[in-house]
Amino acid sequence: MKHDSVSIVIPVYNESGCIDELVERCVAAMNSMGDRQVELVLVDDGSRDGSSDKLVEFAEQNPAQIKAVILNRNYGQHSAIMCGFSQSTGDIVVTLDADLQNPPEEIPRVVEAIDQGNDVVGTVRMNRRDSFFRRGASWMINQVVKKTTGVMMHDYGCMLRGYRRSVINAMLQCRERSTFIPVLANSFAKRTGEIEVSHSERSVGESKYSIFKLVNLQFDLLTSMTTTPLRLLTYLGALISFLGIGFGLALLVGRVILGDDWGEQGIFTLFAILFVFVGAQFMAMGLLGEYIGRIYHDVRDRPRYFVDRVVGGASIVQEIKPTESMNAQSDKMVTQ
Ligand code: UDP
Ligand code: MG
Repeated sequence: MKHDSVSIVIPVYNESGCIDELVERCVAAMNSMGDRQVELVLVDDGSRDGSSDKLVEFAEQNPAQIKAVILNRNYGQHSAIMCGFSQSTGDIVVTLDADLQNPPEEIPRVVEAIDQGNDVVGTVRMNRRDSFFRRGASWMINQVVKKTTGVMMHDYGCMLRGYRRSVINAMLQCRERSTFIPVLANSFAKRTGEIEVSHSERSVGESKYSIFKLVNLQFDLLTSMTTTPLRLLTYLGALISFLGIGFGLALLVGRVILGDDWGEQGIFTLFAILFVFVGAQFMAMGLLGEYIGRIYHDVRDRPRYFVDRVVGGASIVQEIKPTESMNAQSDKMVTQ
């Protein structure tokens, strides 16, 4: 039986400290997969610490197995992975982080799970080794996703994942800018599975996600997958107005029964109520702004990333390719 070919896609951003070990362990994992055709696609997301030179070096030394894709600047983890998808050729694509928190030795197990008929395979981190703050943020993300998309997966944050080619192609056709790949993939998958993997501490360097980037990711996730918050706002607004009317009536009745004095002393209560309304309005406007901002981004339709050059990769003969952008390509397909 002929096995499906596999592409391993890894985004790299300032990871020069662990890149050697990463490639070494990945190649070992690839070689352990028997006669399967496996390629390693390393996408440099505009690193400034020499990671890109290292990637190019690896690809030049071993072009049969390794392909280095260098982006011209930093576009973020998910854009880098999208670029890796468009550069990959395997029937099965596995993604993982460069920081060795997901052991490359688990890749064959993910591939196996896809072979068993799943379109998307997620992984659950056993004994997760991250800071309390990082874990809390992930927990929140997982809850939001579960509530809004209805797709049950335990661990959306873990990027060690496997996808079938059909799902990859579907994702590549999505042109919105704010993507959260694990959720996007699930919306195109018929059968999804999960396996448990071990998780280790980041060996070198530090997490590339600051609190602001995490908040941003949350918003990306929420607004890209669902408009439920907009509907919730309507309900919330209706509830607040209803309570306001009720309270107004109560004040009126109180004033009639208890007289002027009582009404005057209630002035601070009115202030309190006013603040509640003002707060609710600001919240609503902020959220609307969030959607409008995203519409603005999508309407401008700028390319998600630009590829500087591609080195190595056995399946396609590519040396230095002129600047490519994913949307520019799909634009052509649409207009022709
Ligand atoms: N990464 C990237 N671009 C970025 C930020 C991160 O390509 O702008 C890569 C990074 O090199 C790593 C992965 O995304 O391979 C996950 O990053 P990190 O380990 O810092 O995130 P965490 O483990 O805290 O979620
Ligand atoms: Mg990490």
